[in-house]
Amino acid sequence: MAPQKVAVVTGANKGIGFGVMKELCQKFDGVVYLTARDEGRGQAAVEELKKLGLSARFHQLDIDDAASISRFAEYIKKTYDGLDVLVNNAAIAYKHDSTVPFGEQAENTIRINFFGTLAVCDALFPLLRPHARVITVSSCVGHLTKVTGDEPAAKALRDKLASPSLTRKELCDLMNQFVQTAKDGTWKAAGWQSSTYSASKVGVSALSRIQQKAFDTDSRPDLVINHCHPGYVNTDMTSHKGPLSVEQGSVSTSYAALLPPNTEVRGQFLWHDKQVVDWVNGPTPSLY
Ligand code: NDP
Repeated sequence: MAPQKVAVVTGANKGIGFGVMKELCQKFDGVVYLTARDEGRGQAAVEELKKLGLSARFHQLDIDDAASISRFAEYIKKTYDGLDVLVNNAAIAYKHDSTVPFGEQAENTIRINFFGTLAVCDALFPLLRPHARVITVSSCVGHLTKVTGDEPAAKALRDKLASPSLTRKELCDLMNQFVQTAKDGTWKAAGWQSSTYSASKVGVSALSRIQQKAFDTDSRPDLVINHCHPGYVNTDMTSHKGPLSVEQGSVSTSYAALLPPNTEVRGQFLWHDKQVVDWVNGPTPSLY
């Protein structure tokens, strides 16, 4: 008998993650894990799904907590010995009027959005089964063309990030360099843009490209990771200014999570309407 298929969504108690849960509960042929850093909010979201006639399981997962990540990975390994879909959705964004110093914002945003996502991948990728699908939710501001610090440093940085030979170590060093320059006030001179959130999303997009390259030489066939811009969506993160509904904002992520066997959509940057966008050269389509 084929093993039970398993899907996991991070930061799934609200917003786009919750929207993706609704889609997966309806369309994924297996068990779907709603994960959240807060047990109470996560369980409440599972109850919400139940009211809609949808069935999901809950497990605590804080992507900013190494112990929580390893507990979750152990649990999935012990219970299912495999994983078929991973949706890296959890992230934070400071509000534009935040008074938290830029360097501190950079440290927290890169640690959670980039290194937290990387840590989840490192813990769960060994469990991926053949034909597994991973989708990392990036952003329109995660497009390479958003690296817009002082020229020519920004061009040099874009070239590094775009390079097909960029390694994971080099990318992690660049992310740490961004945090350091954000703290000492030299981030623009180093080529970086003035948004810690944007830098973190450029980071996860560059990471997805590196991860697909590793998948391509993995002994497990047909492992696929894509990264996407979900749209400008009506969630807490945007203070409900985004014009797209959570359902519309879940389209590209759910599509990538459910890509059929041997799909050619691999290592790509997807717009919210599912179209493939060239991450290096653009152009990026209109926001809505
Ligand atoms: P929300 O702020 O509404 O939801 C974010 C989710 O991530 C929440 O469930 C939150 O949990 C969770 N989260 C935050 N930190 C952690 C952590 N350390 N561990 C686990 N979960 C965590 O945001 P959206 O739904 O709008 O965003 C979802 C994704 O889409 C993010 O990656 C975001 O960057 C991206 N995105 C969103 C856009 C938009 O227009 N909304 C546009 C482009 C990209 P909690 O409830 O506990 O805070």
